[in-house]
Amino acid sequence: MTAPPGPTLLGALRALLPRACPGCGAQLGPHAGLCPACRAALRPQVQAHSPLRAHPEPHLVTLGTYSGVRRRAVRELKFAQARDLARVLGETLATGVPDTWNVQAVIPVPLHPTRQRERGFNQSELLGRALAGALAVPCVPALTRTRAGAQQARRHGAQREDLHGAFRAHEGFLPTGPVLLIDDVLTTTSALMHWLRRV
Ligand SMILES: [Zn+2]
Repeated sequence: MTAPPGPTLLGALRALLPRACPGCGAQLGPHAGLCPACRAALRPQVQAHSPLRAHPEPHLVTLGTYSGVRRRAVRELKFAQARDLARVLGETLATGVPDTWNVQAVIPVPLHPTRQRERGFNQSELLGRALAGALAVPCVPALTRTRAGAQQARRHGAQREDLHGAFRAHEGFLPTGPVLLIDDVLTTTSALMHWLRRV
């Protein structure tokens, strides 16, 4: 098996190959994932309000609304399995996670197995590995999705409540202590809320 190219060679290749920044279309040059201007548009922030919690309390870290650079970056991640980009997004998210949360592990929100087979990867897991690496904790695939996502459920005319039990936790894999769930976009709130209540 051939060893992957080292960082120096990768850097040289990045500088040589014309690649567009997924955020703005400018040439990336030696930068990995996103150009410096687009990186600056990622603003990790702790949220106290979200559909995940009934009462205001800091519990969620985001890079901002699903628009502009962030929207384009997530789409690129979903369709191009862009590992450099996942690293930039995951590491930037990590800078927004308060130390006081004492996070012990990162758990990616899974795709439905059929969707994952079609796509070949789970973009939340790519993000999760980068985030976990930056926080120096393990990334644990402790959840599986047992039903289709909200989008598919809506397409089939199902009610949101039907997502109850959409995730299953593998008891042996669940770390003790606080964990961070990571998803690329906060759209599966209904399903996640059910899961969080069941824990
Ligand atoms: Zn850019």
